[in-house]
Amino acid sequence: MTKTGESTSHRKVLIVEDHKMNMRMFTDILEAHGYEVVQATDGEQGCAMAKEHGPDLILMDIQLPGMSGLQATEWLKRDEGLRNIPVVALTAFAMKGEQQAIRDVGCDGYVSKPFTIRGLVETVERHIGAETSTPLQP
Ligand code: MN
Repeated sequence: MTKTGESTSHRKVLIVEDHKMNMRMFTDILEAHGYEVVQATDGEQGCAMAKEHGPDLILMDIQLPGMSGLQATEWLKRDEGLRNIPVVALTAFAMKGEQQAIRDVGCDGYVSKPFTIRGLVETVERHIGAETSTPLQP
């Protein structure tokens, strides 16, 4: 099912998120917009899934058990084969101070919780397939 046109079809998004309800929500939203979703529930699994599936974009929760989303992104951006995959951080509304850290580890964008469906989808659409050299945008 594609609601926003053919350009978003067959685009694979890896979601790294430890909260089940958030994972289900992100997955439902992206699938409803024509994306294929693969899921990981922690940073280490996220890195492994990125290698295995070669997603077109990664939605990365920052607060994860064990390896944080920032550490996972740092690892991904050091890997020559993975560093060009855009990483969009999922961050808590209150944690504005995280923005610099998100930028420093090489995230390509971020979505603040709570987010709107439109905001999430627009951010994914803006970054998917984009070069990692583009400036960080919310
Ligand atoms: Mn979390």
